[in-house]
Amino acid sequence: MNFKKEYEKLASIAADEILSAKGREKLEEIKIKFLGRKGQLSLLMKNLGSLEAEERPIWGGKLNSLKKKLTQALEEKVKELLDESKKYEAIDYTLPTGDISLPGRNPVLSVLEDVSEIFTEMGFGIAYGPEIETDYTNFTALNFMDDHPARDMHDTFYLRDSDMLLRTHTSPVQIRIMQNYPPPYKFIAPGKCYRRDTIDASHLPVFHQVEGLMVDKDVNFSHLKGILDEFARRFFKEKIQTRFRPSFFPFTEPSAEMDIACTICEGKGCPSCGGNGWLEILGAGMVDPEVFRHCGVDSNIWQGFAFGMGVERMAMIKYGIDDLRLFFQNDLRFLEQF
Ligand SMILES: [Zn+2]
Repeated sequence: MNFKKEYEKLASIAADEILSAKGREKLEEIKIKFLGRKGQLSLLMKNLGSLEAEERPIWGGKLNSLKKKLTQALEEKVKELLDESKKYEAIDYTLPTGDISLPGRNPVLSVLEDVSEIFTEMGFGIAYGPEIETDYTNFTALNFMDDHPARDMHDTFYLRDSDMLLRTHTSPVQIRIMQNYPPPYKFIAPGKCYRRDTIDASHLPVFHQVEGLMVDKDVNFSHLKGILDEFARRFFKEKIQTRFRPSFFPFTEPSAEMDIACTICEGKGCPSCGGNGWLEILGAGMVDPEVFRHCGVDSNIWQGFAFGMGVERMAMIKYGIDDLRLFFQNDLRFLEQF
């Protein structure tokens, strides 16, 4: 054997193996391999005789100090592993538990349930539709012109090589119901929607909406106002002030946006409401005859209104939350408050 080479090899790998050993068993193996009676160090000791006489004491001394060094490293490692295992032993699994705090409901879910409950109490049914829609049901049937900015690739997730897309609003549920069932209609449609937005405090690529549709032979704009006013009173508080502003949506005519008096400053003006005292909560309007035509509903006999609200927005207003992302981070410190 080449004594010096073997020595170098042992000196370079033994200490590393000891330091990186995981667990007592592995360490014991290493101990036998290097320091045991038939281990590599003993083998070298026995081979001291193969060296020149004047070299033997030098290499003997080197082997002894290597043995000392490795023994010390082993002892330190044993102690380290012991300390580590004590950490776990310190947990007494038989002790009774302390207070367990369970998170409340996610505010988004609470709002979805509250809104559904309020409208079902007012006689509305609940309808659901698919999250993958066609360009026709998501846009065309809802009277979005071909060049409408909402159809832009930047806003919509299209499925590759098809006219299918992830619905950008819950309004296509109106189309599906009207195409498949005869009037009258009175339902809401809660669900997820998707838009290509960059994530920040007020934008997420996935969000929830609740759509509503009421169609009958003599439904007019005052029904729209009455029902949405009643909804706001039940959802926020009995004496909430509301107002309707003219607006535009492709699928309703006339269209309106509904505001409530700011829940923080009660209409006086504060940073939350941009200083004007009002918060926009939903969009609504009388169903455009063009939409009825796409669904085969005779607009000379039937008329009605539709509305849509953003669930996350309602939750932010109701619970005073200023960052949308909090709803989906599953942070217990946030969820425990509800
Ligand atoms: Zn305010």
